[in-house]
Amino acid sequence: MMNPVAVIGAGITGLVAAFRLQQKKIPVVLYEASGRAGGVIQSVRDQGYLAEFGPNTLLDTSPKLREIIKGAGLEPRMMYSDEGAGNRYLVRHRKTIAMPATPVGFFRSELFSWRAKLMLFREPFVRRWDNRYEESVAQFVIRRLGREFLDYAIDALVAGIYAGDPFRLSVIHGFPRLHALEQRYGSMIKGQILGARERKRRAEVSKQDAKKISFDEGLQVLPDTLLKNLGAAARINTPVTRLRKLADGWEVEFQSAGAPQQARHSGVLLAVPAHQIARLQIEGSTLAPLATLGRIHYPPVASVVLGFRREDVHHPLDGFGMLIPKVEQFNILGALFSSSLFPNRAPAGHVTITSYVGGMRNPALTAKPPDELYELTARDLGLLLGITGRPTFRHCVIYDQAIPQYEVGYGQFKQVMDDLEQAAPGLFFAGHYRHGISLGDSMVSAYDVADRIEQNLRRGPERPAAA
Ligand SMILES: Cc1cc2nc3c(=O)[nH]c(=O)nc-3n(C[C@H](O)[C@H](O)[C@H](O)COP(=O)(O)OP(=O)(O)OC[C@H]3O[C@@H](n4cnc5c(N)ncnc54)[C@H](O)[C@@H]3O)c2cc1C
Repeated sequence: MMNPVAVIGAGITGLVAAFRLQQKKIPVVLYEASGRAGGVIQSVRDQGYLAEFGPNTLLDTSPKLREIIKGAGLEPRMMYSDEGAGNRYLVRHRKTIAMPATPVGFFRSELFSWRAKLMLFREPFVRRWDNRYEESVAQFVIRRLGREFLDYAIDALVAGIYAGDPFRLSVIHGFPRLHALEQRYGSMIKGQILGARERKRRAEVSKQDAKKISFDEGLQVLPDTLLKNLGAAARINTPVTRLRKLADGWEVEFQSAGAPQQARHSGVLLAVPAHQIARLQIEGSTLAPLATLGRIHYPPVASVVLGFRREDVHHPLDGFGMLIPKVEQFNILGALFSSSLFPNRAPAGHVTITSYVGGMRNPALTAKPPDELYELTARDLGLLLGITGRPTFRHCVIYDQAIPQYEVGYGQFKQVMDDLEQAAPGLFFAGHYRHGISLGDSMVSAYDVADRIEQNLRRGPERPAAA
């Protein structure tokens, strides 16, 4: 009988991949170092609040996501975010301004100067970038839209998605869709309009238009249910420490009840963060390039969840949340109006707001003790949202290495993964460090890698098509 496939890491990537392999009747063992499933996903119910420390929502961008949710039997527990939470706020002049939803609204908005607004007319005529040189997000935006768009919109967006720095993030790796729009249509604006038709044909939805999904008890429901479905195939409290390529498969060494043990596998999927891949002990020169992945930078981020009495918050909170550009000089990177998205995140008459601190902008802040983090977050929220009372709930989680930065030069890491999948058949890479950092991207990456593993086991490794 075929040795099982080893899936290492029970974050959403490892869970989805293992679940799909099991659906395909391929034997699998899922190894998880910690005592729980979900990785950075962490939903905690406490004092009537539901605090979500990692991702807050899953964007419904691909039919594959719904297939996974349905396969796990979770459709009855799935929720879409409240329709009333449609606004996105951006901070300018130290106050929140709703981002306009229509072109007319954009030209009327006080978010941008007239000079910046007129740059939009110029954008379709800006020449395509010469692809021989990799651009940062900041260079791309300044070239096509001007400095004001970078400082007041894109910088805030990059902080909201990556907790990142637009001068370091690569446009081709960090925002591949933007890069593709320019290359394909010569303009982001033209591409936005024409690209929408193609996505419709492929039944895909852009992140900007996608509905936001969660579950009745938060996102944690998804990993918990997948873990349960996997049954004895999932082994928690079982960190993998060493990998060895054998002539006919793989040997995985892991710690079980404090003692090292080995098992043989037909293949290995690395669904752990890149910095953990680099820490695995390996044998043989073929796998030596794995150490390179340790250079992928993950800055720290603190998630600070605060509850308030509704009457103490003067802002309508009629939106998804607010993005804050660096030039506005606040401590927090941005905040989500969590109980506006999903009302059951707070007890009656209260609201929950989730703020992020640190990232590339200010990593040192995450070293502060929790009391200081609560104070500086409450101060920023007080100023921006007109909050008069003290928090009624407070909780924070610090992710020391939170989100991988797809910086200029990230292609070298992708190349290492591509090369190793060829040089060491049966070894696979998937998840947030390879195919996009979002939850949805990680799940699609896991869905697809299960197909590749199946193909590898049943028909032999993929070969590049003959020229
Ligand atoms: C603060 C924060 C907010 C976010 N917000 C959003 C959001 O709103 N929307 C969105 O789409 N995405 C968001 N993301 C991104 C998204 O949550 C992640 O990209 C995704 O969950 C990553 O899943 P993963 O399984 O690839 O990795 P992880 O969740 O990191 O899981 C990796 C797992 O591997 C385990 N592991 C590590 N080493 C070993 C070992 N040696 N042996 C065995 N197991 C090991 C770990 O314990 C962990 O369980 C956010 C991320 C963070 C940190």
